[in-house]
Amino acid sequence: MSTAVCPRRVLAAAGIAGVFLLLGSPGVRPEPLPSPPLPEPDARRLARDVAYLATTIGPRPAGSQAEQRAAEFIATRLATLGYTVRWQPFPLPGGRQSANVIATRGDQPPQLLIGGHYDSRPRAPGAEDNASGIAVILEVARLLAERDLPVQFVAFGAEERVVSGRNGHHFGSRYYVRTATAAHLAGLRGMLCIDCVGSGTRFLVQGCASDDGRLARHCRVLAWRHGLTPGGGPARLNSDHAAFARAGVPVAYYHRLPHPQTHTPHDLPYRVRPEFLQETATAVLLASEDLCAPLAALWPREPAAGGSRSG
Ligand SMILES: [Zn+2]
Repeated sequence: MSTAVCPRRVLAAAGIAGVFLLLGSPGVRPEPLPSPPLPEPDARRLARDVAYLATTIGPRPAGSQAEQRAAEFIATRLATLGYTVRWQPFPLPGGRQSANVIATRGDQPPQLLIGGHYDSRPRAPGAEDNASGIAVILEVARLLAERDLPVQFVAFGAEERVVSGRNGHHFGSRYYVRTATAAHLAGLRGMLCIDCVGSGTRFLVQGCASDDGRLARHCRVLAWRHGLTPGGGPARLNSDHAAFARAGVPVAYYHRLPHPQTHTPHDLPYRVRPEFLQETATAVLLASEDLCAPLAALWPREPAAGGSRSG
């Protein structure tokens, strides 16, 4: 028996189906478009990296041997993952030195910078502040290692306060921005700052006036669509995103509040919750995939309309 169908009817049916696909059938909510599977961050690996930095190495004050050990640990890991790693040394008050560890892959100019600091206050093991952020950065770098996205990972030295005064902290990120070319900074679609993401009950992705909080809002929407629930609001200029925001780069500040134990000897790994690290890593992965997608380069980077700080 023949099942031949008039080709014209097939085309007509396909046309009607196409219209329904585009508009959705009446009363039926269109299914969300399938997104590529997202790799799952490894909770045990995240916790292990926090423990290594905060317990095996311990307090990592700027310019100390312990800070340098932490930098070597980070650089070795990123190199093992296949990244090209560059050290960027810079001077500290009192004749000491620290360094940023910068990792890239492939030849494309970076469109996204993912960074956080690896130093801690003296006597503070710095599990939350900021072994938690470094663990997330290393895990995201591992999960993106085969993707060849135009992402640059930066572990900043000497974020914590070394001397009093406006410029008594954030040495690594300020040095990075000061020595970067205007073309490099203008080419960044954003800087994601990861600092203190393992213990507070409130997950926040906050923005700055550099882009009227647009990047942070976009990153929050990406996370919400994935079932995560970060809050927003204006970011205080209290971590490594500050230098980038002041230079006009859109920033998103991933952190959690409250964390009263930071800067104290009680900032220990047992307070850091691996599922919070996983959640942050997932949110950062979503932002990385979205902001580095080939079509994203076609969206113009909008300048801030006014001078107000917003999230
Ligand atoms: Zn910090």
